[in-house]
Amino acid sequence: MELSQGESFPRNLEKISKTKNIPQNTKKIRAVALVSGGLDSAIAVKLIIDQGIDVYAMTFHSPFCTCSSGGCSAAIFAEKLEIPIKHVSKDDDYLRLVKNPKFTYGKNINPCIDCRIHILKRAKDYMNEIGAQFIITGEVLGQRPKSQMIRALKTIENEAGLAGRILRPLSAKLLVPTIMENEGIIDRSLLLDIQGRRRNIQVELGRNFNLIEQYCAGGGCRLTDKNFANRLRDYFYFTENPKMADMKFLRIGRHFRHQGLKFIVGKNQDENIKLKTWASSTDVLIETKDVSSPMTLIFKPKKQDDLILPAQITLRYSDTEENTNYMEVFSNNSDFKNFSLEKSPNIEEIIKEYRI
Ligand code: SF4
Repeated sequence: MELSQGESFPRNLEKISKTKNIPQNTKKIRAVALVSGGLDSAIAVKLIIDQGIDVYAMTFHSPFCTCSSGGCSAAIFAEKLEIPIKHVSKDDDYLRLVKNPKFTYGKNINPCIDCRIHILKRAKDYMNEIGAQFIITGEVLGQRPKSQMIRALKTIENEAGLAGRILRPLSAKLLVPTIMENEGIIDRSLLLDIQGRRRNIQVELGRNFNLIEQYCAGGGCRLTDKNFANRLRDYFYFTENPKMADMKFLRIGRHFRHQGLKFIVGKNQDENIKLKTWASSTDVLIETKDVSSPMTLIFKPKKQDDLILPAQITLRYSDTEENTNYMEVFSNNSDFKNFSLEKSPNIEEIIKEYRI
């Protein structure tokens, strides 16, 4: 196995992967584990279960997660490791934090340090609720540039009020011993010293622990995506009270803003149905009549003229070959009516100008 600079293969790997339920404590100690559905957190949990600790998993969901809905692999891991799991949704408080982070953003609109603090504070509440003594994470030193460097880890711990109470089993040997290691609750010699972005050690451990098939390799965060970040910045700029419920719109369609008016043009049948279902009573939907056409959702238009530019763009993405087309309008407001429309000769420039 080839290791990159800064990575070392744990000498105790074999011992660790074969160790089963080492009886460390007569009275069982509890810990809360943050699990994501990724391999790192599952391995971290397994290492600590094998030290005789009662582990309670906790997983967070949000529209920013690129995993499939329903908690990705986190629930499957919990079942496999035979531990309880608590599912938590990130709420509007979280969204406010994304809008105004105390610390800086990463490359796009990902406020990783604030995000970790937020999650850990909620894990701390759960820890107190169930009488647990510490928190486990699958963080690996140096794996992420912002939130997983030594200084950031320290800041996050302190801000969350959890100094010395966060155990990171995958990199623990490279970090200052935690309270649990100092008190002998956790055997530091069975923890690891992984660092960096390569994942060969985790994959090997995953195989040894029989966890490799479940993990979610595609898991990620939309806040790190440039296009999603542009849409979210636009949303924040025009929205006084951001709502998590609105985030579903940012995940689909082609987005445009023209003179403050926002509209989304569906990309396929599935998105057209979603737009139709999600539209509120003050929104208006339009499509090109009699040909295959995207559904376009216009948020709170004030007058019939507000429909013209969205309709031009809808025509551009429809299958029409006609110059003059009939647009069908769906609205609770009878002031908005069906209309006919000529194709615009400058449609590509218009799209470039107003696309978010
Ligand atoms: S990548 Fe996303 S989910 Fe992960 S810490 Fe950063 S903001 Fe939070």
